[in-house]
Amino acid sequence: MRPRIMRAASRPTTRAEAANFVGAVLSDPVYAPEQPSRLRASRVSFTPGARTNWHKHAVGQVLYVLSGVGRYQLEGEPVQAIMPGDTVVIPPNSRHWHGAAPDTMMVHLAMSETNDKGEATSWFEAVSETDYAEAPAKVD
Ligand code: MN
Repeated sequence: MRPRIMRAASRPTTRAEAANFVGAVLSDPVYAPEQPSRLRASRVSFTPGARTNWHKHAVGQVLYVLSGVGRYQLEGEPVQAIMPGDTVVIPPNSRHWHGAAPDTMMVHLAMSETNDKGEATSWFEAVSETDYAEAPAKVD
């Protein structure tokens, strides 16, 4: 890890891997692990209706919502609406998905770490339309 400022213009936006997402999702790199750090951070922009597939993170994940209206579901729990300023804490090895609301885009900062074996994210099947369309739980 060497000191520097990584300029926005030197890091192109990429389209998130189609195999792991539904809809158009764009990713802007923030930070990739450099020893001794294990942090990976990305700004991820989901267009309306777009979301991740079901997946899990070896060391968990923290999401910070930057703009828009989003959806998040931990398997076995209700779908939640997530809003700018919300921080979502996702425990290790917990199946979940996150994305935009059906009619509104959502941008979040996604932060995670690799484990001792270098494992980070494991991907599974797409979120069904039925699961995605579930009305979000009332915010407490
Ligand atoms: Mn995740």
